[in-house]
Amino acid sequence: MVLSRVIAFDGDDTLWQNETLFSMTQNRFCALLTRHVDLPERLMHARQFDTERRNLAVYGYGIKGFVLSTAETAIEVTDRRIPAEDIQTILPFGRTMIEHPVEVIQGAWEVLETLCARDHALWLISKGDLFGQESKIARSGLAPPFERIEIVSEEDQATYERLLARYGVDLDEFLMVGNSLRSDVLPVIAAGVQAVHVPYQITWEHETVEMEDGPFHWTAPNLRALLDIRSA
Ligand SMILES: [Mg+2]
Repeated sequence: MVLSRVIAFDGDDTLWQNETLFSMTQNRFCALLTRHVDLPERLMHARQFDTERRNLAVYGYGIKGFVLSTAETAIEVTDRRIPAEDIQTILPFGRTMIEHPVEVIQGAWEVLETLCARDHALWLISKGDLFGQESKIARSGLAPPFERIEIVSEEDQATYERLLARYGVDLDEFLMVGNSLRSDVLPVIAAGVQAVHVPYQITWEHETVEMEDGPFHWTAPNLRALLDIRSA
């Protein structure tokens, strides 16, 4: 594998922490529901995830959809017995998540600055709610080295092909780096482009896929490992 001219990074759980915040909120949600229903935590998670997945096509990715799905789950799981005051506790979970400081992944700044200094064009391709993603990018302080910042509603093969075509980038000039095999690796290699998978400590169920490294795909232990790959 060689580092191509354009290197694109995913945002959530690649450059800054994200899933830890969702998982923390899910635990708070389960603790609250335990007061109303006798259901193992695993099943509460499963119900919450089902609602969330069902609503993805309507709300898209992001905190707002997650919180609405969480409130919806609370109402369903308790057979509408949950008091309004508990819904009033659940809705601000989203506010807490949105206002939570953005925690940059270790080494991210150093890696971006070094690659930029080596004349790579850096792109940020981030999936989710426009308002939320723009706010996270601004608060992360990581925006300056990026030549392009693209916020998209889905990271699928069509999205990557559209971006490459729009900016006139050839397949062998592009490399995608991200934590999710489902969003940052599979659709990219399907488009005929290289991808580096940098796993995060937790993977959202929706993004979980099993796959082996191949000619277009390499798993790196961390972001800093990118600096050891030879440039094209
Ligand atoms: Mg991600």
